[in-house]
Amino acid sequence: MNSAPVRMGAAVALPMQTPSFVHQLSGVGKQTQAKLARLQIETISDLLLHLPVRYQDRTRPQKIAQLQAGQEAVVQGVVDWLEISQGKRRSLLCLLSDGSGKLLLRFFHFSSQHLKLLKTGNHLRCFGEVRYGHQGLELVHPEYQCVVKHSDQPATLTPIYPTTDGLHQNTLRKLTAQALALPLAELFSPDFLQRFDLFSLKQCLQTLHYPPPNTDLSPYQYRLIFEELLSQQLSMALVRQKARQFIAPQMQASPRQQPVLHSLPFTLTRAQQRVLAEIQHDLSRTVPMQRLLQGDVGAGKTILAVLSALQAVDAGYQVAMMSPTELLAEQHYQTFRDFLAAYTVDLYYLSSNTSQKQRLYVLQKLAMNQPCIAMGTHALFQTDVQFNRLGLIIIDEQHRFGVTQRLALRAKSGENHHPHQLLMTATPIPRTLAMTAYADLDVSVIDELPPNRQPVQTVVLPNERRETVIARIRTVCQQGRQAYWVCTLIEESEALQCQAAQAVCQQLQNALPQLNIGLAHGRLKSADKAAVMQAFKAGKLHLLVATTVIEVGVDVPNASLMVIENAERLGLAQLHQLRGRVGRGNIESYCLLLYQAPLSRQSHQRLAVLRESHDGFLIAQRDLELRGFGEILGSKQTGLVAFKIADLRRDAPLLPVVQQAGRWLMQHEPQRITPLLQRWLKTGLVYGHVY
Ligand code: ADP
Ligand code: MG
Repeated sequence: MNSAPVRMGAAVALPMQTPSFVHQLSGVGKQTQAKLARLQIETISDLLLHLPVRYQDRTRPQKIAQLQAGQEAVVQGVVDWLEISQGKRRSLLCLLSDGSGKLLLRFFHFSSQHLKLLKTGNHLRCFGEVRYGHQGLELVHPEYQCVVKHSDQPATLTPIYPTTDGLHQNTLRKLTAQALALPLAELFSPDFLQRFDLFSLKQCLQTLHYPPPNTDLSPYQYRLIFEELLSQQLSMALVRQKARQFIAPQMQASPRQQPVLHSLPFTLTRAQQRVLAEIQHDLSRTVPMQRLLQGDVGAGKTILAVLSALQAVDAGYQVAMMSPTELLAEQHYQTFRDFLAAYTVDLYYLSSNTSQKQRLYVLQKLAMNQPCIAMGTHALFQTDVQFNRLGLIIIDEQHRFGVTQRLALRAKSGENHHPHQLLMTATPIPRTLAMTAYADLDVSVIDELPPNRQPVQTVVLPNERRETVIARIRTVCQQGRQAYWVCTLIEESEALQCQAAQAVCQQLQNALPQLNIGLAHGRLKSADKAAVMQAFKAGKLHLLVATTVIEVGVDVPNASLMVIENAERLGLAQLHQLRGRVGRGNIESYCLLLYQAPLSRQSHQRLAVLRESHDGFLIAQRDLELRGFGEILGSKQTGLVAFKIADLRRDAPLLPVVQQAGRWLMQHEPQRITPLLQRWLKTGLVYGHVY
């Protein structure tokens, strides 16, 4: 969606509604305001976009004689009698009859108000869930209202909203009705509504909150889904457009790239070569590169990062390469050192565990006008880290970082120029996501694994077969290979996870006294962790027992066996990532997925996907179907696709027409964009907040 630049001056007048905030509605005090805030409702439009989860049909009362336990019922009748029962629990009982039968209403909490309204002879309409009581069917604490004998029934369905403790449906209903009566800004022009076949906002909200019985709600929902997807698309398009207006440093391909390539023990695959050419070309231009490099685990992304960094350094710029975990950052630092050993390149490492003295030293270097490569964790981007000539940012396993973080990084480079950005990920991006969450990026795909890779044989085993598994480790290690044992305990504290890993490590050491076993988990001091990894990499350890800290990036080609405990608890994408730690050399490799019996049918199916497929894209697709986007993106990214009303799994087919609408709006009615973004996007994603 990068058509003609949009002119968006300060002149845009916001058609803010008056009043705009919920506390301006009558009946909203501090307490209600706080409860609404828990539902993310702050403005009137938030309130109106808080749609019912379902509706009750209270338009037609049911006959008491036909009620059944468990059903939600609306009944209307006359109060026969009223009494306060002093049984086990004091309660107010009221018998209602409608000619067809009699029904008991039971209240445990009641006031003099109840006694007045429930007087014998009064006509009531009640709503509640029918249950069995001692004397037959009854309603416990029904909602009720006094009616004139033949008064009109409500003409519309009654909304049931998602709510929070202590916030009654009736409160939400009253507030919504109040809000619906206020003038409401329609953000689209009549022309736009007609062109894209949309109902007016007023009509949609009125209908979705109070639909007449038997209304097809889909065209009304469509309009809101459309509007929400559109605002998300536009915000990403604007981010992209805005970023492209900056100037990035021009970096010609470096004469040192070829010699590095020649010194490698392998040649690049065709896919790697193609992507390298794309990056080299991007870096040589003044438009900031914003490229997402996607390649399955083991596809060989790191070497491309090395070559890109070299191009930037040799053009006189600084490079920052960020990894999500210390383990990975440390390993990349080693890899860069190895690959670039024969060349003079200044390499620095920075993590939250770097000593104060070392840190100051590195900061001083970065502040100087000298080309270098700085590597590390997110510590690289803390506010006190000032780069002097930052020309390229590389982020590995970018799906581990939030999109807001990604966008914020661009601000690091100073006023006048923007660094190029290379984002790497092993997570395949389904088309839907490429069109939404990543709409501001160009995408390159390494769609080919290095030759001679053998697919990792994957076996699914119950925990009872542990002995066999241990014997297998013994054999493999005696043959000079190495193995991983991954302990997983999700949803429990990291501390527990580490304890579990310690216990398993001890157990395995007892069972396999002849092997050298190392332990890596999140609670180890980073120097100790690095030492263990180093020892494993150097072949001094046979077996590495670890938590999922080794999930991303760890590269030890001699490791040919991985055991994953409680595999059924992890997502497929995560298991695929873990499995990617083996099969990185050209030896036949195995992954044993241990599960705790009994296993549900669905879990069986899920694990079978891994046994049958090595294609990260297909696996992610299946995961998406089985568990949704959160799983694929990791929790940090989910905010991005956490739409209020739209659901990408359901609404993806709308994306093409939404994109078209976005282009039309940018071209013909750009002044309408800002209010739209303000209605739908609250995070820092909104255009203009990021920079
Ligand atoms: P990932 O894409 O998962 O980050 P890495 O960059 O860690 O993968 O590469 C995995 C392994 O494959 C490394 O040991 C790397 O040196 C090696 N490798 C990379 N490219 C090739 C290639 N073209 N041929 C053979 N091995 C390669
Ligand atoms: Mg990697």
